[in-house]
Amino acid sequence: MPTTFSPICIATIAELRSYLAAARNEGRTVGFVPTMGALHEGHLSLIRKARAENDCVVVSIFINPMQFAPNEDIQKYPRDLNRDLQACSNVNTDVVFAPSLEEMYPAPLDTKVKAGKLAKTLCGVSRPTHFDGVVTVLVKLFSIVGECSTYLGRKDFQQLVIARRLVDDLSLPVRIVGCPIVRETDGLAMSSRNVYLDAAERSQAPMLHQALETGISCMRAGEKDPAAVRAVMRETIMKAPSAEIDYAEVVSAVDLSIPKPLNGEIRLLVAVRFGETRLIDNAGYVIPDRP
Ligand code: AMP
Repeated sequence: MPTTFSPICIATIAELRSYLAAARNEGRTVGFVPTMGALHEGHLSLIRKARAENDCVVVSIFINPMQFAPNEDIQKYPRDLNRDLQACSNVNTDVVFAPSLEEMYPAPLDTKVKAGKLAKTLCGVSRPTHFDGVVTVLVKLFSIVGECSTYLGRKDFQQLVIARRLVDDLSLPVRIVGCPIVRETDGLAMSSRNVYLDAAERSQAPMLHQALETGISCMRAGEKDPAAVRAVMRETIMKAPSAEIDYAEVVSAVDLSIPKPLNGEIRLLVAVRFGETRLIDNAGYVIPDRP
């Protein structure tokens, strides 16, 4: 019978540091999964991978105010620590690090990390301060957790590219591991924000995934003009009457630039609003080298 164990719940930086120092003294490797809680199968897939590849698994649950703009309602963000602890226990997490706001930000920060060019495009256009908040909290979390492998979902593809660059640029002792997107059976990418959708919006939301599929089909048929691929994705999304497109873009998976003509490793990304709820999704395609 598989054994499950309750994770230790740690709320202070000092306690987590001392726990991990002891683990490392015993030669244990650390796998780290940063989250904002409201855990679903997408998060759990990251934890399972961390579990499979490491001796000690740490999941952080912290809703980081720095990555929310004043017009984005952080108060509304779903939270249920007891349910999250149970979910972590089911996938054999060793430690849940759930610090308070005061523990992470005892005073307003005077020193912040600023994301660069990679944060100016895609989600960075409508959320100009978001990635500065993300990289700042990642640097804090990496400095607290120390040397580790960190598991991030491709669901937030731009965040993943920015995090890889952050670790390289600042020589952080962290190996970033990108993990596949987990979807509902109708194709909708799992997200803590899906609970905000009403029934009509929920039924239209799989259109994001369908748009990515049509974009890929178009490239598979030989299309190399990014504008043409964008157009078919937009056309598909617009079949959902409540959808308001933020962007539908096709970029290099490496540096998020737009190759013209499209070539190499490509990422298609969409962001769509349904009422107050903004959903994102993406998919990859490699343009074959044809002689
Ligand atoms: P969040 O709690 O939204 O900050 O997400 C924490 C981590 O879970 C990030 O690395 C996300 O990319 C990842 N994640 C969220 N949803 C999914 C999903 N559907 N599939 C895979 N990873 C996901």
